Amino acid sequence: MATRDIEKSISELHELLVHKDVSSTELTNAYIDRIHNVDPDLQAYLTVLEDQALAQAAEVDSKIAQGEVLSSLEGIPMAMKDNMCTEGVRTSCASKMLENFIPPYNATVTDRLRAAGTILLGKLNMDEFAMGSSTENSYFAKTRNPWDMEYVPGGSSGGAAVAVAADEAAFALGSDTGGSIRQPAAFCGVVGMKPTYGAVSRYGLIAYASSLDQIGPLTKTVRDNALVMNAIAGYDPRDSTSVPYEKPDYTKFLVNDIKGLKIGIPREYYGEGIDPDVAKGIQSGIRTLIDLGAEVAECSLPHTEYAIPAYYLIATAEASSNLARYDGVRYGYRAEAADVLGMFKTTRAEGFGPEVKRRIMLGTYALSSGYYDAYYLKAQKVRTLIKQDFDQAFEKFDILLSPTAPTPAFKFGEKSANPLAMYLSDITTVPINLAGIPAISIPAGFVKGLPIGMQLMGKAFDEGTLYRAAYTFEQTTNYHTLKPNLSGEVLARGSR
Ligand code: GLN
Repeated sequence: MATRDIEKSISELHELLVHKDVSSTELTNAYIDRIHNVDPDLQAYLTVLEDQALAQAAEVDSKIAQGEVLSSLEGIPMAMKDNMCTEGVRTSCASKMLENFIPPYNATVTDRLRAAGTILLGKLNMDEFAMGSSTENSYFAKTRNPWDMEYVPGGSSGGAAVAVAADEAAFALGSDTGGSIRQPAAFCGVVGMKPTYGAVSRYGLIAYASSLDQIGPLTKTVRDNALVMNAIAGYDPRDSTSVPYEKPDYTKFLVNDIKGLKIGIPREYYGEGIDPDVAKGIQSGIRTLIDLGAEVAECSLPHTEYAIPAYYLIATAEASSNLARYDGVRYGYRAEAADVLGMFKTTRAEGFGPEVKRRIMLGTYALSSGYYDAYYLKAQKVRTLIKQDFDQAFEKFDILLSPTAPTPAFKFGEKSANPLAMYLSDITTVPINLAGIPAISIPAGFVKGLPIGMQLMGKAFDEGTLYRAAYTFEQTTNYHTLKPNLSGEVLARGSR
């Protein structure tokens, strides 16, 4: 009965496929039905690819019929944030500017997931050009949090987190420039990994801030996350910032043992603005880890308070440069006007939403002559100090731990009128992107019925230790097994 299978993990689905308990076509149909049933309310998807998905599933089924051995992701239905290029399929970045943009090529992650045999169900909603923390900045739709529809799902990968949490896909890919995988994962109760900068190719990811952007998986379990990383990570000559490192088999780290693991608790992440109930929830997670044998001690990342200003200067500076290409000439939206200058101006005035314009202006200002040294250069120096804070902490600790976000999900409109309040909600995630290190968010409990996430941060290219700690925590907790009931009540998996 494929209708119940949609809530299973990738590894469980793989077993079902291998044992012919379900076909990839049945599974794909079950997800498509689920999308038809719940997405009119949740609005996680911007594009659903029914025919293409069923054709891909039929290919996998014929392999199964011929007795071929299935690899771990073959036949698994998934979806991608709408800022990763998909050949022949609209890639809009949730912007009017790219409303009709059909890329002539695939992102590397698209190619790799295709090569791994996954089924692409569709493209997911997001904040326009990945700028935001609530998905309210999408030009197209308001994605709702399945745990309570009056609340935002987080952002900018809100569609990705909701698709996984509400069983509209077995897994999803998001992108994270300052928290956009981890924060929506926390708000929706799923697992989200922001890999080390350079670990996953950015080729074909529509750029927001190139020195910070990374693609990563949102999944139901830690094991699923490692399986997807196995498929998407690794050197890519088409991305000049891709690092030629020895990619491990990430599933090798899934051992239920953290005895002696040294965990640092940066005290700056528990300061002002942190909801006391979130802090309490994370404390109880820390006690669980101590009981499991971890050695936990407080530490300090003294430059944390400068992370938000440094991030919002560097990210906007890079965005202003990356978004200069949308001028109505080459591709994307074009407005009619009397002369060419008028065409440029009107195209950009009509094609971009208010948050994108705000950031282009901020970034252009920070880069302008006379202000460059005072803002952009200064922010780059602060970035180095933040990275050094982490380097020093990792001399003593294997991983660091904090809440993923200072609060649980907030209500629609609660922060959208005040950009600064929205920016401050990124305090626990942006330092990680500035330092280029990996971090994972895992379900760690509930505050007033809404999920909260625990963030584990690691050394560059040490995703493995994060998976080990996350997996061990997951084995002794049941948060990841709870599902939102779309009428509001919390259900255990399998009881829908
Ligand atoms: N919320 C942050 C911002 O608005 C991070 C976004 C992201 O990671 N793409 O920039």
